[in-house]
Amino acid sequence: MAHVVVVGAGIGGLTAAAAFQRKGWEVTVLERAPSIEPVGSGLAMAPNALRALDTIEVGDQVRKLAAMQGQAGIRRADGHWLSRTSAEAATARYGDPTVLLLRSSLVELLAGRLTEGTIRLNTAVSTISGTPDRPVAVTSSGEQLPADLVVAADGIHSATRAQLFPEHPGPVYAGVTSWRILVHGSGLSTSESWGGPGLVFGVAPLVDDQVYCYATATVPAGQKAEGGELGELTRLFRSWHDPIPKLLSEADPAKVLRHDIYSLEQPLPAFHRGRIALLGDAAHAMTPNLGQGACQAIEDAIVLAHLADPNRPESLEAYSAARLPRTTPIVTRSRTICRITSWRNPMAVAARNTMISLLGKLGPTAALRQMDPIFGWQPPRD
Ligand SMILES: Cc1cc2nc3c(=O)[nH]c(=O)nc-3n(C[C@H](O)[C@H](O)[C@H](O)COP(=O)(O)OP(=O)(O)OC[C@H]3O[C@@H](n4cnc5c(N)ncnc54)[C@H](O)[C@@H]3O)c2cc1C
Repeated sequence: MAHVVVVGAGIGGLTAAAAFQRKGWEVTVLERAPSIEPVGSGLAMAPNALRALDTIEVGDQVRKLAAMQGQAGIRRADGHWLSRTSAEAATARYGDPTVLLLRSSLVELLAGRLTEGTIRLNTAVSTISGTPDRPVAVTSSGEQLPADLVVAADGIHSATRAQLFPEHPGPVYAGVTSWRILVHGSGLSTSESWGGPGLVFGVAPLVDDQVYCYATATVPAGQKAEGGELGELTRLFRSWHDPIPKLLSEADPAKVLRHDIYSLEQPLPAFHRGRIALLGDAAHAMTPNLGQGACQAIEDAIVLAHLADPNRPESLEAYSAARLPRTTPIVTRSRTICRITSWRNPMAVAARNTMISLLGKLGPTAALRQMDPIFGWQPPRD
């Protein structure tokens, strides 16, 4: 039986593991962390990702655990809606709306698909040795795992990417830091509010009266708020529209997550070398503005499991050929939106808001149409 070693048990690695196991491969997932408990936050799954998850029979379970996005759109800091779309319009166009769920729900579902013993925790991969055509994953304790295929799903700071493509500059700071927090609340619309200077606040209702909030601000990398991150968020957003100040006043200061945003601005020359394939953030880390990082990791995993053939090492060329042109424009577009939300010049911000507003006036389908190339993706058929 062909053996695939997956490095990393994030959303990309777990999806790949489930997809390969379904195709009859022996799968070993090596994860350096002591548990696969993901960060406590929400996650948007767009129609393209739901379709991909359908191919490993997880899509319907995600739909059950998730909240439909409902009315969603972009607002100004004072609450004025610039553009709005609806779940009905998205469902009519793509078969599904974007859904919102806890990251932990998706991770549990994916891990639950795997046969007992597939995931080995506390097992860091220190290097990939052997040759590209006969790779061997070497753990930090010196254990060697030869494989027909190594899938590097080891995230944005992927050591495998650095090993395979040492000339690549790696992730670049996008100039933006992010905060994420889960709060209680009900009866809210999904919205992302943009204000100056370079501030964004997102409100995304989940099931069970939970609300996922996220925020970004343009600041130098590596900063931490001296008085605590919740205090910093309150300072930045206290004068913004309802329900933002209320949600922040009810948040638990201990549960605010802060991460600087990095992306791979320069695309890799390929997503594979020999029988080693990169996927997810390891291959194409992007800013979160389109909510597509995990969605693209899921697509990668499904396409890779579809194309990989242990008897045809060149099959991974088809993987790079399919996924590089798919993900590169999404990374670029996400980064462009990140830049646009970071504008500080009041005239530029007013012009930006007018453009979004004009687009919004064309109705819910006009805003959605911009997403056709991303949301309209179809998974390969076996
Ligand atoms: C603020 C924010 C909001 C976001 N919102 C969304 C959203 O709504 N929708 C969406 O689709 N995407 C979103 N994303 C992007 C998404 O989180 C990522 O793209 C996605 O989680 C990447 O998954 P991955 O499996 O590629 O990598 P990761 O989740 O980073 O997983 C990598 C795993 O590899 C392990 N690992 C690393 N090195 C080794 C090693 N040497 N040996 C063994 N294990 C190793 C790590 O411990 C980790 O478990 C968001 C990102 C941010 C920052």
